Amino acid sequence: MTKLPKLCVALSMILLLSLAGFSRQGQQPPDEQLLQKARAIHERIITLDTHVDIPGANYDPGEKSTAKCTIPKMEKGGLKGVFLAVYVGQSPQLNEEGYKRAYDQAMAKFNAVHRVAETVYPDRCAIATTPDEVERIAKTGKRVFMIGIENGYPIGTDLSLISKYYDLGARYITLSHSGHNQICDSSGPAQPMHNGLSPFGKQVVAEMNRLGIMIDVSHISEKSFFDVIQESKAPIIASHSGCTALCASNRNLTDEQLKALSRNGGVIQVVALGSYLKGDSPERRQAIQKLQAETGYRRLGRGETQTMSEQQRAEYAERTKTYQERLKSEVDVKYPPPTPAAIVDFVNHIDHAVKVAGTDHVGVGTDFDGGGGIAGFNDHSEAFNVTVELVRRGYSEKEIGKIWGGNLLRVWREVEKKAKAK
Ligand SMILES: [Zn+2]
Repeated sequence: MTKLPKLCVALSMILLLSLAGFSRQGQQPPDEQLLQKARAIHERIITLDTHVDIPGANYDPGEKSTAKCTIPKMEKGGLKGVFLAVYVGQSPQLNEEGYKRAYDQAMAKFNAVHRVAETVYPDRCAIATTPDEVERIAKTGKRVFMIGIENGYPIGTDLSLISKYYDLGARYITLSHSGHNQICDSSGPAQPMHNGLSPFGKQVVAEMNRLGIMIDVSHISEKSFFDVIQESKAPIIASHSGCTALCASNRNLTDEQLKALSRNGGVIQVVALGSYLKGDSPERRQAIQKLQAETGYRRLGRGETQTMSEQQRAEYAERTKTYQERLKSEVDVKYPPPTPAAIVDFVNHIDHAVKVAGTDHVGVGTDFDGGGGIAGFNDHSEAFNVTVELVRRGYSEKEIGKIWGGNLLRVWREVEKKAKAK
């Protein structure tokens, strides 16, 4: 009995939120009939997000959290499950000291997820380690937590750590982050280190196939991507990437990569991070490149700045300041930056990936709390807006179910099957 009023409140909240989301984009708010249809679909399907970042030991996705992915926001937006990223920053130290530190950081995040799910909010969420468990937990009304490792760096050179991470619940590993590591080249740096997968990286791929861990190619270089396609016996995922055809970024997948991913049986989980969705005009890009060359400025990753000396850090800050000032006074004036990305841009990437790779090979991976968040889909309380936009564009319930989670679960099952067949 008490459930009914609560449900009504939740539904009107969703309606208000969705209207706010659309008016911000200058679109006509969807009509009531469309909303009703979208609402029914959204409730029936399994909605999964494959990439969300979490802090370390102080992780608490409860009411007080201001994060974009929290249990209340997932509940409000009808988002059923999420892959929490055990993210470890890349440092240039490809040695035992660096690997040990990375291992400790990874363990702190694994512990945080297990603590939250098993002792802090066991009545509201649970960890799934198989697609069957995802479906079972989703039916209970609890949020489904799954674990992915972002960056294979904490594997070090010890293959046995992969099964240790598997036992802790990891079901995908993003092979690299924004710097090269011992496994493969990243899409970050301009110059390759291994020219794709390293010999050790090939062993990592084989071990992940053997255990049944999905291989995540987001962040890795194009050559590494095609090496992984070649080496992997199971389909792969890109847990949070966009389409190069719509936004030139080294983090996105070209049409050639999308087609290869489709042939591989894998899935691209479209990212909701503005700068991967909506890019600068070619003229603005050129002007920025010129300015970067003139000022010697290059945006560094978290891992790179961590290992700097005081003096290096001060120099970097000075270069950044000069660059930012000239960007504003010279480039922005002549070639204005694009307006911020909104949900229409996000769904444009879904549309494009569907057109090139097929409906069976596209999903959602927001990168919330790691830079993701756009107008209309800025946190999980707004997840319903995505369904509304998909319905508005004519996607069927079956297709929406696949995009919101069905495809990912299919790939995961395939990866499990291949592991068992070894
Ligand atoms: Zn990432």
